[in-house]
Amino acid sequence: MIIQLDSKISKKDREKLNDILTENNVKTSEISTQFNDYIVGIVSKDVDIRLIGNIEGVKDVHRVTDPYKFVSKKWKVNPTVIDIGDGVTVGSNGFTLMAGPCSIESEEQVEKTVKQLLKHNIKIMRGGVFKPRSSPYAFRGLGIEGLKMFYSVCKANNIKIITEVMQVSQIEQMVDYVDIFQVGARNTQNFNLLDALGKVDKPVMLKRGISGSISELLQSAEYVFYAGNEKIILCERGMRTFEKAYRNTFDINAIPVLKEKSHLPVIADPSHGIGIRQHVDKITLAALVAGADGAIVEIHNEPETALSDGQQSLNFEEFDILMNKIKKLPAV
Ligand code: PEP
Ligand code: MN
Repeated sequence: MIIQLDSKISKKDREKLNDILTENNVKTSEISTQFNDYIVGIVSKDVDIRLIGNIEGVKDVHRVTDPYKFVSKKWKVNPTVIDIGDGVTVGSNGFTLMAGPCSIESEEQVEKTVKQLLKHNIKIMRGGVFKPRSSPYAFRGLGIEGLKMFYSVCKANNIKIITEVMQVSQIEQMVDYVDIFQVGARNTQNFNLLDALGKVDKPVMLKRGISGSISELLQSAEYVFYAGNEKIILCERGMRTFEKAYRNTFDINAIPVLKEKSHLPVIADPSHGIGIRQHVDKITLAALVAGADGAIVEIHNEPETALSDGQQSLNFEEFDILMNKIKKLPAV
């Protein structure tokens, strides 16, 4: 059960509510986000929730049986729109593109990419500066100095940035230079990181775990909300399966199913989803048709020399072709 409180609930009403909860043995957690105050109650079925709904200072009460509550559609039916600032939004109104390299490599690369994004009126650039790599010998990103450069070039061009945070200690140094925090597939169940991102007033895009289920992804999102941050975006990025012909198996099913189970926006990552450059366009279009709220696509001015994920990065010409196809699809 989720009880949404009026911020001006009187002491008397609050006591009345507490009495009902105690009488009915409801186990409660109090949650405050950047938008609202709530009580989550673990409740047995026979409590009449109308008793709670009738209290003056209670704005809303809903029974939610899912293991994830705040991110469930059983609590909030209307789609959530995430405000990134300056009129940039994710969710509910069209298809939001985020594009950029896997890793930020140089100022020149960022400038070239920004030009490419501006050409297509894309408002969000991706790029990692802290890179989770399977091998410790691989390029692991430019770090915080790279992030400052990335942010300042984008800010000068009115472009928002999304970048991966790998650990709790990075949040504080990153927060002023990030518009959306990305939680990578290897960290989807890093509950300390999710707790810490719940304390930040910046949107968080949560990737599905490498072998993570839909329910696990939604419960990870619940962690962020529970800790105080309602600005959450979900991302399907493919799963590890027995199939070895491509990097991951992009789970197209996840898009309509996540949208049915949750009010949060769902973004597709076709680049990691298939991992093969010449097919990234098809998976992007498939995700759009399946109802995704957007896509995050890896692009590179010279994929052949990219320091990470060049094999799945579109060059600018290929990206132009994809963008033209995307523009034709909304009619479908
Ligand atoms: C990335 O976006 O470059 C990345 C590392 O993604 P994932 O966490 O999905 O592997
Ligand atoms: Mn990548």
